[in-house]
Amino acid sequence: MELDRNSTILVAGAGGFIGGHLVGRLLSDGFECVRGVDLKPLQEWYQVHPEIDARQSDLRIRENAYDAMENVRYVVNLAADMGGIEFIEENKALCMLSVLINTHLLEASRDTDVERFFFSSSACVYAAERQVEPNVVALKESDAYPAMPEDGYGWEKLFSERMCRHFREDFGLETRTARFHNIYGPYGAFRGGREKAPAAICRKVAEAKRYGESCIEIWGDGEQTRSFTYIDDCLEGLLRAFSGEFVDPINVGSNELLSINQLVDIVEEIAGVSLERNYMMDAPTGVRGRNSDNTLIQEVFNWQPSVTLRKGIELTYRWVSDQVANSRPTFFG
Ligand code: NAD
Repeated sequence: MELDRNSTILVAGAGGFIGGHLVGRLLSDGFECVRGVDLKPLQEWYQVHPEIDARQSDLRIRENAYDAMENVRYVVNLAADMGGIEFIEENKALCMLSVLINTHLLEASRDTDVERFFFSSSACVYAAERQVEPNVVALKESDAYPAMPEDGYGWEKLFSERMCRHFREDFGLETRTARFHNIYGPYGAFRGGREKAPAAICRKVAEAKRYGESCIEIWGDGEQTRSFTYIDDCLEGLLRAFSGEFVDPINVGSNELLSINQLVDIVEEIAGVSLERNYMMDAPTGVRGRNSDNTLIQEVFNWQPSVTLRKGIELTYRWVSDQVANSRPTFFG
């Protein structure tokens, strides 16, 4: 389906990492009426695009979801209370409360003129028991059942996926869902407790380089594996899933699997430094290995993420090291 660029599209979570990039992509694709909503005040948004109708609002509140929906034809829900592994392990209830955001947005969409609704799910819907080896078998969409997702955050994602499906089946709201796998890139959290591994490692290496430190901390033994998806690929997958006719949840993830130690090697090479590694064996590390099986997305859209980690990390490191140069180092608090 060709999205009408003159119709209003609501980006929930527009002040966040993926939301900020999505708004930029929509504007460059010629969308004329973009509304961005986020809990955070505008000055805290990662990217502010002056052309859009930007609003601060708490979408857990039902009437706020209805207010956001005025004249809206398309909804992309990227709003959630989330962060890296430490945040999701220590804030299970907060993560689950994001169910209010998606539920209220679904209800408001059903009750107004919304034609299409996108939900951002996660690789955290997959059972930990399928992710116990570094050399893991890549996760295909059907592996989400029988269900035993990541506690807290993953359960909310799986429940909300299911709710989207039933709003489509019972109320005729055209919902689409993608399961994102470790999205990274510039203009996102890189410190403060919500950052994910790529941004955190870029920050640690950039700080060590700038302040002459010889050692960085690595969570776990660094042999846990992941695939990381560059933001441009995430947006391309999101827009294909959103405008396409495939209705079930679909992986949007790179399948370039590597260990955290290999990721650190790449960041060090880009930064031109070689650092000692202090392995923090008590730190949270999540599952032992995780990769995206891209058979389905390849079949449905004849496409899959293709930005190499080397290329994506180069762009991310450049941005993070600029932020480090303009702020106080983390180890000073
Ligand atoms: P983010 O934290 O940068 O952005 C989420 C935004 O939602 C934040 O700006 C936050 O302020 C906003 N928000 C939170 N509660 C809100 C509320 N009550 N009302 C309005 N806005 C609220 O996260 P992101 O990385 O951009 O992720 C976007 C979506 O993609 C989330 O649903 C996330 O679960 C999903 N996802 C992300 C990744 C990833 O690696 N980044 C992986 C899988 C899934």
